[in-house]
Amino acid sequence: MSSKIVENIVWVILGILYLLTFRYEDSVVFLDVGQGDATLIQKGNVQMLVDGGPDDSVLYQLQKYMPMYDRRIEYVLLTHPHDDHLMGLLRVLERYEVGEILYYPVCYENENYEYLLQSYGNTRKVGAGDTIRLEDIEVKILWPVLKRDAVGCVKQFDGNLNNDSLVIQFEYMNKRFLLMGDIESNVETLLLTQQIVSSKYDILKAGHHCSKSSSSETFINIVSPSVAVCSVAKENSFGHPSSETLNIFSKYNVQYLLTYKEGNIQIK
Ligand SMILES: [Zn+2]
Repeated sequence: MSSKIVENIVWVILGILYLLTFRYEDSVVFLDVGQGDATLIQKGNVQMLVDGGPDDSVLYQLQKYMPMYDRRIEYVLLTHPHDDHLMGLLRVLERYEVGEILYYPVCYENENYEYLLQSYGNTRKVGAGDTIRLEDIEVKILWPVLKRDAVGCVKQFDGNLNNDSLVIQFEYMNKRFLLMGDIESNVETLLLTQQIVSSKYDILKAGHHCSKSSSSETFINIVSPSVAVCSVAKENSFGHPSSETLNIFSKYNVQYLLTYKEGNIQIK
């Protein structure tokens, strides 16, 4: 046999082995996408991707959890239209068939955000009170409040786009998850005083890449997660994560995990 035929046979065998051995894992994965956020919620072959990180590194990470032949992601959710959450989602939308694009229609001038909204018809505006069903997982949106009858975009809450991040919670695998987007301390306080967030969570995706403007002591004390995830690149120019925030985690016995150290953080 010629070496070309042998090579082809080897590829076919490897392909069959891949098909036979690939298993979906029910899990939540905080993907290591550098300085940005991207979280995969997967139940069987059904997925929700919350944010996409700053570039196409999300595609590389997704391949580890989704087989090559699964080209469909049921939901993507954009917490807020900063590029470190948005750019990777645009790459995902080019490569995958996406069921619905969930977003909060905050006013913000960004050509990539405009491109997203103009290019795709399968967007859905969401806000506090909405629940997205992913198989039997109920993903609940806690923040921001969406005026249902508003026309056009919604004015920013306090002029800091981070505070217009969609905050979501869900229970999965007997754990309570709270994903804060880039929310900062003043909105954390508001979520506590309005009792929107009031009890213990197991896993916290801490706000704003664990900068000191988020994860206040009071908030961490009440949420009291077992694990806090900081989605950050090594030696980023923002100084994330802040040592003050990490000290608060330590003070309240919260184990903190950093994506640049751990790589993808898979909870299962
Ligand atoms: Zn961010």
